[in-house]
Amino acid sequence: MTRPISVLIDQNALRHNLGIFRQRAPHSQIMAVVKANAYGHGIGSVLPALGGADALAVACLEEALQLRQLGWRKPILLLEGIFEPREIADCIAHNLSVVVHHQEQVQMLLAARLTAPLPVFVKLNSGMNRLGFNPNEYHHAIASLRTQPMLAGITQISHFATADEAAGISAQLQVIDRHFADHPYPVSLANSAALLRYSETHRQWVRPGIALYGASPFSDISAASLQLKPVMHLQSRIIAIQNLQPGQAVGYGMSWVANHPTRVGIVACGYADGYPRHAGTGTPIQVNGQRTRTLGRVSMDMLCADLSEIPLAQVGSPVTLWGEAVPVDTVAQAAGTIGYELLCARAQRVPEILLE
Ligand SMILES: *Cc1c(COP(=O)(O)O)cnc(C)c1O
Repeated sequence: MTRPISVLIDQNALRHNLGIFRQRAPHSQIMAVVKANAYGHGIGSVLPALGGADALAVACLEEALQLRQLGWRKPILLLEGIFEPREIADCIAHNLSVVVHHQEQVQMLLAARLTAPLPVFVKLNSGMNRLGFNPNEYHHAIASLRTQPMLAGITQISHFATADEAAGISAQLQVIDRHFADHPYPVSLANSAALLRYSETHRQWVRPGIALYGASPFSDISAASLQLKPVMHLQSRIIAIQNLQPGQAVGYGMSWVANHPTRVGIVACGYADGYPRHAGTGTPIQVNGQRTRTLGRVSMDMLCADLSEIPLAQVGSPVTLWGEAVPVDTVAQAAGTIGYELLCARAQRVPEILLE
């Protein structure tokens, strides 16, 4: 038997989540965000379930080329645009769209000899202060791009900093509406949080990422209550059992000490698989279909589960680290982070198994 850890990728869950976005934003086109190897799911594993999306978005040219190689024919947007002029030829050859967020990118594009149209998403910095033209530069950038007919396919784009928080979007949306109204072009604003919470942001294109994979963008609303289904199930098995007597400890640092006789299951999953080391004793985990808790420190290849209430568990019993019964968001919360980080950190050594 080979090491029993894997991620199950549930393609039907992905299709279901796409369906939720269609219901919520019936008049918008859906650009599914698949950067970072589809948030750690494996781009090849999710692509067959993304046929219902209208476009895909990635962070760089290499990710886009991989999608073309896998046969995706609809639009692909480079969310950070180009980094150097020599990427432009590939963008043209593979029919990619690019975000333009900085004056240097405008100059690169205007200096290039474009042999075919290159669709551009011109980005307004509406308050997040990460990427985008400030309002006073934005109109000038659009005017410059319009001088080159090959760059005339323009979409207006901006991004919210607090669509998932109490602060909301209204301050940014005011800036956006004030400046976007000057131009006749289509608009794209909504990440998952805005898509699910603010229908006024839907416009022509929505850009869901995390919710596509069935995790919640909100710290206080569960994915299940948003009707989202988890796409990734991190699963493994018990590979050893220890019976601890009171006073005995388990794992590095001996940080968890039994105060009554305790059956401990050793699970083949550790931080080198992408499980967060910061998740301390008490993090939820499922063994043999029953929910229990982790004990002690997570090590590189293993962690420990409390089997006190699961007498039937034995070597070989199935374990779910996250998935349906244990939302990735709960594990993330226990580790002081967000579901995004755990999904993206799924290690290469954990093989993907497709559930079609
Ligand atoms: C990553 C990203 C998204 C998707 O965000 P989620 O919170 O995962 O839905 C949307 N737009 C841009 C510009 C992004 O970088």
